[in-house]
Amino acid sequence: MRLVIAHLYPAEMNIYGDTGNVIALSRRLEWRGIDAVVERIAVGDPYDFTAADVVVAGGGEDRAQLAVAADLQRRAGDIREAVAAGTVFLTICGTYQLFGHRFVTHDGDEMPGIGVFDLETHGGDERMIGNIVLDTEWGPLVGFENHSGRTFLGEGQQPLGMVRKGYGNNERDFDEGAVAANAFGSYLHGALLPKNPAFADELLRRALVQRHGDDAVLGPLDDGVERAAADAAATRP
Ligand code: GLN
Repeated sequence: MRLVIAHLYPAEMNIYGDTGNVIALSRRLEWRGIDAVVERIAVGDPYDFTAADVVVAGGGEDRAQLAVAADLQRRAGDIREAVAAGTVFLTICGTYQLFGHRFVTHDGDEMPGIGVFDLETHGGDERMIGNIVLDTEWGPLVGFENHSGRTFLGEGQQPLGMVRKGYGNNERDFDEGAVAANAFGSYLHGALLPKNPAFADELLRRALVQRHGDDAVLGPLDDGVERAAADAAATRP
């Protein structure tokens, strides 16, 4: 068995350790004897998203997002089709913002998004920084956030979770991230998946079922070190 992990924009969108999400997914497959193939996709590279089982993209500063936003527009139809077909996506911070309808930066630059999630983002005056803890359907998630963008969900848009500690999408609503089919968006860096193994496995389980059917099983792993890392981060400011 094998899964293909497509890493979108590894050079442009990789802050606060976001590449750790790709490493965590690959290792958790390999530890169970499942091959992980990682494909790196840069701005301008042709890519057929039907080949990917999990698509991962990280965060980046406003300037990096400008180049990525234009590239995403060219892939918008393909990505929306892949989401509709059930491909698993994990988009963090800068890419999460561009999976909404639009991002208007603090300087007034307007970047169109690709509308996978029903949300929009506006650059604010204050940065929302620190360790963050959410309650989600898949248990608590612990991460690190650092963004000035304030994201507002459309009515009916499901969040990833509710904020127990930190800011999340904005400083007002206590929601964090977004979910549409098997596509997830979040502000949580850290990286997210190494510290949240149950959520990493949720993504892998969905991808395995999509590609290999219901009898694909993920055996248990010893997550003691990962849980200790999450507990340590959760108690820090
Ligand atoms: N530039 C965006 C913001 O500050 C995203 C930053 C990030 O990816 N950490 O809102």
